[in-house]
Amino acid sequence: MNQVFAGAADYNRYSTTQSGSQSMLTLASILTTTALLSLAMAIVLGSLLRSNVAGVQEWFASNLMVVISLPLLALRDLIPDFISIVIANSVLALAAAYYYVGCARFVGRPSRWGLLITTIAVLAVGLVIWRYAVNSIPVRVLIMTTFFTLVCISAAVVLLRHRPPHRNPYNYWFAACLALIFAVCQLTRGIYFITLDQPSNTMMFDTFWNIVLMVIGAVTLPTMTMAAVMLTHDAMLANLEDAANHDHLTEALSRKRLEAVAREQILRAGKFGRPLSLLIIDLDHFKRINDTFGHAGGDEVLREFARMTRASLRDGDALGRLGGEEFGILLPNTDTAGALAIARRLREDSERHLISGTFGECHYSISIGIATWREGESFDRLSIRADRALYTAKNAGRNRVLVDEHAGADSLAPAAA
Ligand code: GH3
Ligand code: MG
Ligand code: MG
Repeated sequence: MNQVFAGAADYNRYSTTQSGSQSMLTLASILTTTALLSLAMAIVLGSLLRSNVAGVQEWFASNLMVVISLPLLALRDLIPDFISIVIANSVLALAAAYYYVGCARFVGRPSRWGLLITTIAVLAVGLVIWRYAVNSIPVRVLIMTTFFTLVCISAAVVLLRHRPPHRNPYNYWFAACLALIFAVCQLTRGIYFITLDQPSNTMMFDTFWNIVLMVIGAVTLPTMTMAAVMLTHDAMLANLEDAANHDHLTEALSRKRLEAVAREQILRAGKFGRPLSLLIIDLDHFKRINDTFGHAGGDEVLREFARMTRASLRDGDALGRLGGEEFGILLPNTDTAGALAIARRLREDSERHLISGTFGECHYSISIGIATWREGESFDRLSIRADRALYTAKNAGRNRVLVDEHAGADSLAPAAA
């Protein structure tokens, strides 16, 4: 990206004629616009640094690199060529590398700094050779555009291949398509330059297509940064949703989320005529566990119980924490007999489950109330029936499973394990 500047200052050198001053104005406008846009995007990303979203730091650094490299490019002829060509373009390459690393880290992939730094070192050697051994602007431009092309393609690929499932694909496709469009532009400009004869260097900057490609090059990083900002907002939203939908301690669904899932499942059960069962589980004598092992010990028991339960459920089943030491499990496509089998297994597993930690070793048991959804029933009503079965299980001595019998409107069927 910003390969527009590779050889840009050579342009100053060649464009000292009457039409040159007009073109220099164009170039100066492009340089200034890009510098200001990159600075603005760095400020925008700076405000997102504390979001802790992976990749934001690298995208921020990428824009800063562009802001640093532009004055070096603009000072061509006033400072040594080594700084305005080799260093300035290497810093631009570093900006591109940072952008890629931002994308990779954003989707949880390795940074690959080793490969990137090695490539930039080779690129810098190339710039030295085609400045001091053979002075060729087209080759230098080709070196830079090839690097930017590869970086853009890599960024697009890493974003699309490792896009988290269940996330809106729009932002990922937007960022990837932008990167691919820019990759094509970089490649086009590189090929365009290399096909020019060396003597026509003086003229090549003044063509319509060169200016178009320069402008596209100039907006590349700021535009791709906008896509990065969209990705960051999407990640922040996902983090917020995740926090709202899950219980912090046990990572079970929050009560609110479980209720929402229940409403969806009830609709589906009604539509397809499938059974749906609800288990309400309460850990027995939990106050005693807290008193014996401390609150931290109690927390550990809750965490371990949730972990064990989640591991034993099928995809599509939903475990939620209703509050305190009470949990709900929604079992789609499961009738009373199926729910009873699952509940009995859970009760037995809990009874056998030994939890050990710095607090000591703890056994626990659970009581479970079961209700199977009836046509037209609300989730509230279903919960009341499962709760009632649980309450009866508690009164009957705990460590047992009870079904709220669906045949009789208000009867309870004992189903002690
Ligand atoms: P029962 O067998 O009748 O359910 O008795 P119980 O002691 O389990 O029930 P009770 O409702 O009397 O007490 C529940 C206890 O759970 C009281 C509360 O301090 C504790 N508790 C609620 N939330 C948490 C939590 O997040 N962590 C810990 N460690 N304890 C909790
Ligand atoms: Mg309890
Ligand atoms: Mg309770």
